[in-house]
Amino acid sequence: MTLAVRIDDTCGRIRAAMDAAGRSDRCDLELAVKTRTPETCREAAQVLADRGLPVLLGHNRVQEARATVEAIREVPGAQVHLIGPLQSNKVNQALSAVDLIETVDSTDLVDRLDHRVGRRFPVFVQVNTSGEPSKHGCAPQDVPRIVAAVEMAAHLYLHGFMTVGLHSPDERAVREGYAHLRRIRDEAAERLCTSDGDLALSMGMSADLEWAVEEGATIVRVGTAVFGPRPASG
Ligand SMILES: *Cc1c(COP(=O)(O)O)cnc(C)c1O
Repeated sequence: MTLAVRIDDTCGRIRAAMDAAGRSDRCDLELAVKTRTPETCREAAQVLADRGLPVLLGHNRVQEARATVEAIREVPGAQVHLIGPLQSNKVNQALSAVDLIETVDSTDLVDRLDHRVGRRFPVFVQVNTSGEPSKHGCAPQDVPRIVAAVEMAAHLYLHGFMTVGLHSPDERAVREGYAHLRRIRDEAAERLCTSDGDLALSMGMSADLEWAVEEGATIVRVGTAVFGPRPASG
């Protein structure tokens, strides 16, 4: 199957889940491009552009993002998000390579980013909703402090929340994590006196995007369903 066919199939899955949930708002496809070549990234970005869809690519590693950003930028309107953890010594590199950071999970990182960025810059707060110690993201109880730090920041602004779901076939348990992120988003929207719809929910991947869409995802991050299995070393 070609990349275009798999992208169309994935969009079909998103649409079907939106319909099943009775949703009339939108959910965008973000391509998770870790380990993919610049050529593949560019080709996939072009398919999204040809469909009139937002061109949204998520990179896990700053170095990798820098290597492919140039290829992606040939596609007008392409947006690159950082979806992997950001080490403090990579802050400058990240800010020069990506349009949005989805993985802000501490007030320390908020401060570092804000001191370096020098322009208005959107961030998502990443929350560990599954409680698995191996997962990145702040604890749910730390969200208000981090959101407050973003609000105090001179340049950063809160654009949404992100989580990596529980890796499990247990639908109820996985969905509970996504529902939790949605409650966190709704509470933040209320505190910030903004509407829920102004704050994105980035959740759901190849295996479980339907569950995430049904719990309110506005961005799903999909890798293997579009690009095939990753090399084992990736
Ligand atoms: C790899 C990755 C994805 C996509 O996972 P797939 O199972 O390949 O769809 C989504 N989010 C993050 C943070 C990732 O690292």
